[in-house]
Amino acid sequence: MKPNRNYAELKDSYLFYNIAQKTRAYLQEHPDHKLYRMGIGDVSLPLSPVVIDALHEAVDDQGKKDTFHGYMPETGDPTLRKTIADYYKKKGVGLAEEEVFVSSGASDELGDILDLFDRDNTALVMEPAYPAYVDASIIAGREVIHLPAGKENGFLPQPREDLEADIIYLCSPANPTGAVFGHSQLKAWVDYANSHDAVILFDAAYEAFIEDPDLPRSIFEIEGARTCAIEICSLSKTAGFTGTRLGYTVIPIDLERQGMNLNAMWVRNRTTKTNGVSYIIQKGARAVFTEEGQKQIRDNIRVYKDNAAMLMEALDQLGIWYCGGKNSPYIWMECPEGMGSWDFFDYLLHEIQVVGTPGEGFGSCGEGYFRFSTFGSREDTREASRRLVELLRK
Ligand code: PLP
Repeated sequence: MKPNRNYAELKDSYLFYNIAQKTRAYLQEHPDHKLYRMGIGDVSLPLSPVVIDALHEAVDDQGKKDTFHGYMPETGDPTLRKTIADYYKKKGVGLAEEEVFVSSGASDELGDILDLFDRDNTALVMEPAYPAYVDASIIAGREVIHLPAGKENGFLPQPREDLEADIIYLCSPANPTGAVFGHSQLKAWVDYANSHDAVILFDAAYEAFIEDPDLPRSIFEIEGARTCAIEICSLSKTAGFTGTRLGYTVIPIDLERQGMNLNAMWVRNRTTKTNGVSYIIQKGARAVFTEEGQKQIRDNIRVYKDNAAMLMEALDQLGIWYCGGKNSPYIWMECPEGMGSWDFFDYLLHEIQVVGTPGEGFGSCGEGYFRFSTFGSREDTREASRRLVELLRK
């Protein structure tokens, strides 16, 4: 037996381990200090009441012979697939139910979807990036092409003719930079993919945070995307499902490569490799898309957006360059006075007890930048913003 040697190619990820070590050491030295944690990408608000009611109902259903459900369809409960297609309709995107696949989360899909592509394909990742894109591609034995992004292009790089990319990861709004692609910028990627026979894997995990009506919330708002894109989305950040687990993936019927239909291939994949997502969780997810559900999740998102507004105001006062925040739960700031991102991490931890995420942990072009997450509590974010202004105004 030979193990998958690609695992040996993975770089160790020290980012969250190092942050945990440093904060633990600080608390050991200063046990009476409170930390303001603005680093983690996990949500802090609980599930909405409509979702909780639906989950309770679903549990009761499973206890009665007449309403009990065994295996669910591998591609998702047809009612939920239709509900999600209707959600897209409201964004102006027409989808057939068969184009929507219910999953147990975006991370699972980002790795599994690579089953659709030959190992010889290259995977293009824009950096700084969500680390799973690189690692999932390496585990699957693919060459990764790193496309650096920076302040000069607002961390939204555009395609170049010399790129030889087969699989293209796009994330908008992006983690970690919070940057959001506009229509014409996404159109350039769609045109590149169609003319180079590439496929875009569009991660829309943060689409619900876009408030600017001119910005696209789905790749399928872009003309030509149906022949070159797959969209992967999740209720994790939209509706607080990080610990509940539900996502969805859209593969258009029109998406074909070398005579093979990717939607049909994914049906085959799912019916082979999964036995569907739990009935209980799918019923909870359906509640998210009801009128009341949408109102309740908006109330939670509002709290995170208010946090973003507080942090942006602090950075504006300080005259610090940043992107994200307005249409995203992440704010990506330039470290002051040319500081390195780990130095800035230590400085904030020791001086004002604020914990963020050093940009360098998302790829080398994140050096010199720092990520704040707005998923913490309102009180902590207010105090962290106040401390930031006080410290950096000096
Ligand atoms: N995609 C991005 C860009 C993310 O930041 C995250 C989680 O932080 C995910 C996907 C994972 O989402 P899920 O919880 O649905 O696996």
